[in-house]
Amino acid sequence: MSRPYIPKTLRQKVADKAKHRCGYCLTPQSFTAMPMHVEHIIPFAAGGPSTEDNLWLACPLCNGYKRDQTYAIDSVTGEQISLFNPRQQMWSEHFRWSEDGTEIIGLTTCGQATITTLKLNNKYLIRARQRWVMAGWHPPTD
Ligand SMILES: [Zn+2]
Repeated sequence: MSRPYIPKTLRQKVADKAKHRCGYCLTPQSFTAMPMHVEHIIPFAAGGPSTEDNLWLACPLCNGYKRDQTYAIDSVTGEQISLFNPRQQMWSEHFRWSEDGTEIIGLTTCGQATITTLKLNNKYLIRARQRWVMAGWHPPTD
């Protein structure tokens, strides 16, 4: 299935609303050497529309791990847990930064499932965040 065309004006509107950063790991576009993806929160493959209310920014790492998933299975209970929805939910209600600012801590089952599924504390992000902290650029305060 080919990816849908998203008009440039809609991409810009989504990027502006997302503050030009990944909705999951909060990595700013200006910190990466690769363009952010405009992702479908409800996957296109699952019938999610290419409308503003279903689109958000995701970095290539997060979008690559998320793929077409909207939920995770709890390894202990077998329960289906919805992944974080950056358009409808507040990041700070589901996550916080570790004391040193390099890791994302899950505050809810949704937050924890999203950290695990999208590998929000993968070694590449941790190494980058360590340097961003040293530079005084990280963690974000909003
Ligand atoms: Zn990300």
